[in-house]
Amino acid sequence: MEITGPLTHQIRNVLRLKPGDRVILLDNSGWEYQVELGEVSRERVAGHILQKRLATSEPRTKITLYQSLLRARAFESVLQKCTEVGVVGFVPVVAARCIISSLEDIGEKRIERWRRIILEAGEQSRRARLPALQPALLLPQAWEEASRGGLTIVPWEEAGPGMPVQEKSNSLRSLLSGAQPRPFSVNLFIGPEGGFTPQEIDQGQRYGAVPVTLGPRILRAETAGLVAAAAILYELGDMG
Ligand code: SAH
Repeated sequence: MEITGPLTHQIRNVLRLKPGDRVILLDNSGWEYQVELGEVSRERVAGHILQKRLATSEPRTKITLYQSLLRARAFESVLQKCTEVGVVGFVPVVAARCIISSLEDIGEKRIERWRRIILEAGEQSRRARLPALQPALLLPQAWEEASRGGLTIVPWEEAGPGMPVQEKSNSLRSLLSGAQPRPFSVNLFIGPEGGFTPQEIDQGQRYGAVPVTLGPRILRAETAGLVAAAAILYELGDMG
């Protein structure tokens, strides 16, 4: 086992590990390795693998978060927190009420920054597989893509009791516990600061998306994905 690049700095100068120390290493494969370090130098860390085992940090339920674009700080916070909680993929979405109205406005630099945020959050929360950052889509394309597989859920603040959408399925819990078979793959759509328009929700429903309420309090757009993802993982037994 050999490591080169920036991680050597982390091991040598930040964690101050020495030859003989034992560490757990993750390589984004879903496996984790118990390693005894042999050499710790500036350019290279080497060691031998004592044990290779399937990492336990990945949830069985694979949530892809289709997050409408938000102001920069808020969007970054979503990537960070949702990586911690266990989302497996992110799709940035341009919806009608987003501040950014075209895919071209999302520059390479911004995408690089998003990748770094996911990487750092993944390392700190010991994700055995980093969440994928998928290409940004316009909302209609996003509904279509999501309709190809999995259960598509769209938390909508108007889907609660006394609100226009009154189907039985409007509680997240009853939707998940009633679903047969158990959903292993969930597409979660969250609107921008100003929410989804009723027309957008209609369109989503035509593609099979199910509107649900996240309760009687309106959450900020940057909070809703995290809360919904945690509730889904909890309900399906993936929070331990
Ligand atoms: N338009 C609203 C706020 C939108 S909140 C207003 O200003 O009053 C942004 C997104 O978070 C929504 O599109 C929805 O996906 C989600 N959301 C927030 N609170 C919610 C709740 N109580 N139930 C369901 N979805 C919610």
